[in-house]
Amino acid sequence: MAEIVIRNLRKEFGSFTAVKGSSFTIGDGEFFMLLGPSGCGKTTTLRMIAGLELPTSGEILIDGEDVSQRPASQRDIAMVFQMFALYPHMNVRKNISYPLVSQGVPKAQVAAKVAEVARILGIENILDKPVGGLSGGDRQRVALGRAIVRNPKAFMMDEPLGALDAEFREHMAEELRALHDRMGATTVYVTHDQLEAMQMGDKIVVMNHGVVEQFGTPQEIYDHPATMFVADFIGSPAMNFLRFEGGFRPGETAVTLGGVRIATPELHEEAAGRQLVLGVRPEHVALSDAGAYRGRVEAAEYLGTTQIVTLSTAHGSVKARIPSGHVARVGETVGLDFDARTLSVFDAGTGRAFR
Ligand code: ATP
Repeated sequence: MAEIVIRNLRKEFGSFTAVKGSSFTIGDGEFFMLLGPSGCGKTTTLRMIAGLELPTSGEILIDGEDVSQRPASQRDIAMVFQMFALYPHMNVRKNISYPLVSQGVPKAQVAAKVAEVARILGIENILDKPVGGLSGGDRQRVALGRAIVRNPKAFMMDEPLGALDAEFREHMAEELRALHDRMGATTVYVTHDQLEAMQMGDKIVVMNHGVVEQFGTPQEIYDHPATMFVADFIGSPAMNFLRFEGGFRPGETAVTLGGVRIATPELHEEAAGRQLVLGVRPEHVALSDAGAYRGRVEAAEYLGTTQIVTLSTAHGSVKARIPSGHVARVGETVGLDFDARTLSVFDAGTGRAFR
């Protein structure tokens, strides 16, 4: 098991900088997500932690030891890839044993270890089967078995479920998380899927264009997004943004939007004189006849217990997630009420949240 500390980590490929000075800490035993859109530098970060890529500058400490310039073979980290590369001519037992056999571990010890891993993964019954005929899930389990059997300090997983269809993917995600909870090994997991990151992760780093936008628990990131990028990337439908123009004085707890007073959390003094953007999640918008801030219902999408209502307002389109029992007729004009305690307030220029 291991704590991994990342300090000012940077990676340049020629004139292109893929990772621009990341810092975060992966706690011992955490299931840690590297999340962001395609090309943001997640895989490069993971590969630097594993030692498959050397950083241009910055440090990687594993249990306090600087391993930044050490080769992968000296880091004791296991990689689990999306395309699980099993040896097709070997059976399951041989595939799982392979890392130990190639290290010269005595036979009896290998047998005991493989039995233990097979029990953890629930694959005792397929140990003697050739891997060629296995289902996708079993192949995934065997690949995991091969990673687990060495007892590495940490696991690196790069979109391990990316090739699976949606339903099976959800099932394997639960299985992976349960496996992690049984073993308690530090795991770093790359995904571009915000839902997967929220569901599985203890902590999440959100990256964009090689920069760490935010680092925290799923709840911190969802409830208090540090930037408009994070607010937009996490949550579906995304957070609504309302641009607010006009003066605002420190200590105030309201802004005026289209002549209507909207209560906000107490605003930071740095927000004075800045152009602000209010952020409100769809589930924190309520519809009422009386509300002073008005919008026209453009569409209602039924989702079972809730519905997503799209409204056009003087400040753009706003989505509200409301109980499906509430009748919202297309073409009707209704009042929108925002829950002040849950509003985020961003600097329109920098995109950063005021706290
Ligand atoms: P994806 O999910 O698409 O893999 P990612 O967030 O994992 O995205 P990276 O694979 O880390 O992104 O790549 C980040 C950027 O660095 C990309 O623009 C990529 O083209 C570039 N890059 C990665 N590896 C190299 C390399 N060996 N040489 C040059 N550029 C690279």
